[in-house]
Amino acid sequence: MKKEENFSEWYNEIVEQAGLTDKRYPVKGMNVWPAYGWKVMRHIDTFIREELDATGHDEVCFPLLIPETEFKKEKDHIKGFDAEVYWVTHAGLNELDIRLLLRPTSETAMYPMFSLWIRSHGDLPLKVYQLVNTFRYETKQTRSFIRVREIHFFESHTCHESESDAQGQIEEDFVILENIMKRLALPYLLLCRTEWDKFPGAYYTVGIDTYMPSGRSLQLGSIHHYRENFSRPFDIKYEDVEGNQKYVHQTTFGMSERLIGAVVGVHGDDKGLVLPPDIAPIQAIIVPIIAKGNLEEILESARHLADDLKAAGIRVQVDDSDERPGAKFYKWELKGVPLRLELGGRDIANEVVSYARRDISEKGTFSRKNVAESVSTLLAVISDDMRDKARERMDSSITTIDSLDNIPEKWLRFGWCGTEECGKEIEEAADIKILGSPYDKEEFDGKCLACGKDTNIVVYAARAM
Ligand code: ZN
Repeated sequence: MKKEENFSEWYNEIVEQAGLTDKRYPVKGMNVWPAYGWKVMRHIDTFIREELDATGHDEVCFPLLIPETEFKKEKDHIKGFDAEVYWVTHAGLNELDIRLLLRPTSETAMYPMFSLWIRSHGDLPLKVYQLVNTFRYETKQTRSFIRVREIHFFESHTCHESESDAQGQIEEDFVILENIMKRLALPYLLLCRTEWDKFPGAYYTVGIDTYMPSGRSLQLGSIHHYRENFSRPFDIKYEDVEGNQKYVHQTTFGMSERLIGAVVGVHGDDKGLVLPPDIAPIQAIIVPIIAKGNLEEILESARHLADDLKAAGIRVQVDDSDERPGAKFYKWELKGVPLRLELGGRDIANEVVSYARRDISEKGTFSRKNVAESVSTLLAVISDDMRDKARERMDSSITTIDSLDNIPEKWLRFGWCGTEECGKEIEEAADIKILGSPYDKEEFDGKCLACGKDTNIVVYAARAM
């Protein structure tokens, strides 16, 4: 299966063959997580929890069903989601007076409760998060992890006394994000979405975008500043030090299982997955190389080796199945195990362990004595190398253009005067989506791609996955 030739087909085959997902469940866009895929997701969830717990967020769990009456309180929000929600209209045989919807996101589930929880400035900031499934009726072609109807989702919601406190939260979110993305070896850009593309009800939205080798962009998540846009309709008020009633300023930060889709797309190759060591269910696979008459000796040696590595906190497994070594190599390469360790009679005699990296074609030997330390060090190197390589590929794919002729299948960068009219004209003419301008402003001196006016605004655009 060639990634370069047909990315889409390659992706669809790899995710299933490697055991990340099973698409045979009889509801479109709602896939089963088999054990291997769920282990990868759990590692990602663990990092998310660690980062949020460390920054004073509390984990909560809200109901899946939201009453229509709460959902309709913020009018832009309804407009943005109306066509995408699943409705529950009956309970048993009875038609419901007030319809219930499956959460597409949890603003309208949480905020009526926030208005009960928050009384005074002493209750602020309120910082909570949850890891739950959300539902969206996706009408386009579904794709595992990238476009699904039941989404494994992380969302944090915060309330603050002032706009600047909320702004401070957004800066904290960027640090949290960077720590998580480092583990996934994924590069990304933070782009301020256009007015017509921001989250329904948001004051502003920062999209977290990564570059897929197909030449398209993939949005991994987003961070929103709501100002008082939700606290007013949901009546979330607090009493300040002087005794005045004030509305809270809110933010949210959300990411989904698309993170796995990005890991597959960005790091994978023609042999299968290449998993970053931090999220690999198996970080090192030991393949015993058995010759005539030494089966027991080799297997015992392999198990000792596994014990030593486990004691050092490395996720390791011995493949003692009856398959030939070549078939084992193939299987674990497909599953993206970062490091393969081989142990044969000669290795034991020489007191070494042979290794092969998954991310690049590098082979070598470790001294058996310090093997745990050597493996740990190499796993860290693999993680860094994967990130650097992906970053370089993303950076080199960004192409600055100054005309709408011959648009390449890449990430595009160009000047825009800032008007919706020109923005939409460009999107239509080039069949691309403007992702937005960099959150950290970039020096730019150019012309709007549509009207030709001088501008300092630079935006990124691409075809979306
Ligand atoms: Zn213009």
